[in-house]
Amino acid sequence: MIRFESVGKRYPDGTVAVDDLTFEVAEGEMVTLVGPSGCGKTTTMKMVNRLIEPTSGRILVDGEDIARVDPVELRRRIGYVIQQVGLFPHRSVLDNTATVPHLLGVKKAQARKRAAELLDLVGLDPSVFGDRYPDQLSGGQRQRVGVARALAADPPVLLMDEPFGAVDPVVREHLQNEFLKLQAQVRKTVLFVTHDIEEAVRLGDRMAVYGEGRIEQLDPPAKVLGAP
Ligand code: ADP
Ligand code: ADP
Repeated sequence: MIRFESVGKRYPDGTVAVDDLTFEVAEGEMVTLVGPSGCGKTTTMKMVNRLIEPTSGRILVDGEDIARVDPVELRRRIGYVIQQVGLFPHRSVLDNTATVPHLLGVKKAQARKRAAELLDLVGLDPSVFGDRYPDQLSGGQRQRVGVARALAADPPVLLMDEPFGAVDPVVREHLQNEFLKLQAQVRKTVLFVTHDIEEAVRLGDRMAVYGEGRIEQLDPPAKVLGAP
């Protein structure tokens, strides 16, 4: 589903953030990218949704070189959730969730109906939270809205960059469990960045263990942990 072919990224100042990555993520698979800060995880993610361009190699999504995919179409195919999701502060939770599909051409009434379903799916009752504004939510709730919004265009691919990194450990564990349940239903192809090894173990079908600019191991969690 996602295929990296000899992908490298050297920033203009000469920093080699990613060095010759070749790997594949299968359809419906969740791969966690784990490793210390500065080893190239975020750079890897940003190249998939073309926030930055690789300096070598190419990335295919569903067999197609993403450099050739129209940016609007790419946004329809790839959802993105980051640590501090940027919600529109002057729009309600429901509107925040409905805006993206609406921009992508879904009729307003249908986008709102879908938004309500998605809020339910991420554990936010739309009749309670739909009319709230982002500043009336807890951190964990805002991240849930971010996940709902990323799912709103029904993209086959989901990029999650430390989505639960800024919430306290108890809430984080709750969000992880909910996200596993959600993934069992929606079966997206997911790249999930974390520097928390426990999170990577809990969520990943496979873990991509990063060293400086490269993946040192790509295996199911049990194997990474050295189980026989
Ligand atoms: P991670 O997500 O694993 O923390 P990053 O992909 O953010 O790692 O960064 C990888 C390396 O690239 C680091 O050395 C970082 O300092 C460097 N880097 C990231 N963004 C830039 C940039 N815009 N210009 C120069 N170097 C960068
Ligand atoms: P969490 O532990 O999930 O971060 P908080 O302690 O931030 O939760 O919030 C606890 C509850 O209070 C949440 O259910 C949240 O909806 C509600 N809440 C937080 N801030 C506001 C607010 N400004 N207006 C209304 N309800 C709020």
